[in-house]
Amino acid sequence: MAAGESSHKSENITWTRGKITPEERARQNQHSGCVVWLTGLSAAGKSTIASELERVLFTQGKHAFVLDGDNMRHGLCSDLGFSPPDRKENIRRIGEVAKLFAEAGFVCITAFISPYRSDRDLARRIATEGKFVEVYLNVPVEVCEKRDPKGLYAKARAGKIENFTGISAPYEPPLKPELELRTDKMSVAECVAAIHERLLQLPC
Ligand code: ADP
Repeated sequence: MAAGESSHKSENITWTRGKITPEERARQNQHSGCVVWLTGLSAAGKSTIASELERVLFTQGKHAFVLDGDNMRHGLCSDLGFSPPDRKENIRRIGEVAKLFAEAGFVCITAFISPYRSDRDLARRIATEGKFVEVYLNVPVEVCEKRDPKGLYAKARAGKIENFTGISAPYEPPLKPELELRTDKMSVAECVAAIHERLLQLPC
């Protein structure tokens, strides 16, 4: 990551490297760590696909872990709201956590709307180069609104939620994602298989 992108308030801090290389870890785990960054509107299918992908990888004996939007807002990011600066800080923290998981050898699957291109690009720069797979779950907002599994679109339309992505806040689609999936045209299993296939192409 370029110097100056993460703000350091402390002086006299140095990065300590462990004695285990990423290659040694990958050899022992029989796969390398990486970040699978799912992005898309609310109800696009991020949580559904993330947990299915995690299950598939786990069943194969791989190390996988999901970082889910709402869960992170319960803890690490409980001090943040949905204004643009808070969303940015939210994604920066997730990016840092995802990088650590990937370094620990996990396939870290993140399920965040992450509506701003610059924030996703920051998460990409935080991650180890070549180990960041951006997956755009591309679904028309009308389909998401019809799905509305958490009733959030209905609340947003009723003016009960401010800054709701797709309704009253923007979503900037990725320009060059590693993968783009129409979850209204593909089944969950097909989406998971497509991501799995893409992961097999990652360099070890
Ligand atoms: P998000 O995490 O993006 O807000 P969710 O995964 O919570 O979205 O909700 C997506 C909804 O859409 C679920 O009810 C899921 O069953 C449904 N769905 C239908 N087809 C798909 C698909 N191909 N991929 C993911 N979800 C799908």
